[in-house]
Amino acid sequence: MIAHRLQEINRQIRQAEQAYCRRPSAVALLAVSKTKPAEAIASAYQAGQRHFGENYVQEAISKQRRLSAFDITWHFIGPIQANKTKLIARHFAWVHSVDSLKVARRLSEQRPTQLPPLNVCLQVNISGEDSKSGISLPELPQLYQAIALLPNLKVRGVMAIPAPEDGFANQRKPYQALMQAVAALNQPDLDTFSFGMSADLVAAIAEGATVVRIGTALFGARTYG
Ligand SMILES: *Cc1c(COP(=O)(O)O)cnc(C)c1O
Repeated sequence: MIAHRLQEINRQIRQAEQAYCRRPSAVALLAVSKTKPAEAIASAYQAGQRHFGENYVQEAISKQRRLSAFDITWHFIGPIQANKTKLIARHFAWVHSVDSLKVARRLSEQRPTQLPPLNVCLQVNISGEDSKSGISLPELPQLYQAIALLPNLKVRGVMAIPAPEDGFANQRKPYQALMQAVAALNQPDLDTFSFGMSADLVAAIAEGATVVRIGTALFGARTYG
């Protein structure tokens, strides 16, 4: 079941890349496994998936322990509480949800020096929803400049979760604004655009996503979280 869904999602990604003149395999799938058991991750892994995204630190670490024999790249994508930064800095290769200098400083200070720099994306609240984490677009340049100086982090790009929109054109708009703001930073090292979920995958790929984050369409509905 998971292998079949994975194949179908990858087919949709390849098709959208082709339709919008993206380089083949420019877009990576991040399998969002929050609330799902280690067995589900193992199934996706056996079908070829290597990048997994988790939102809850303790849950993620217990799955990482069970799957330590697997060559998985773990991404933290949930809201970050300051008291969890130490575990995040130790147990993940990527963090997509950095939205304050305070959290970024802690992650940099707490990143073990024997590990490579922690790859981070700055989360931008592109629809300006009160309920969502993330900085506003005008805050991006300043936060980027500050975080880029931290020694044990590598700023790779941006992450966004826009408000749900009906219609392809409406889905594309917030991503256009985000990509323009990133282009204005004029930093060729920023190569990671983490946006697009099941409902707006094609619009995200059309606008330049390099990572799409898919949970339910791969693992089925969550009972909590
Ligand atoms: C849960 C989650 C996803 C995946 O959502 P689905 O609706 O299950 O595909 C993607 N990104 C983030 C940040 C999430 O928390």
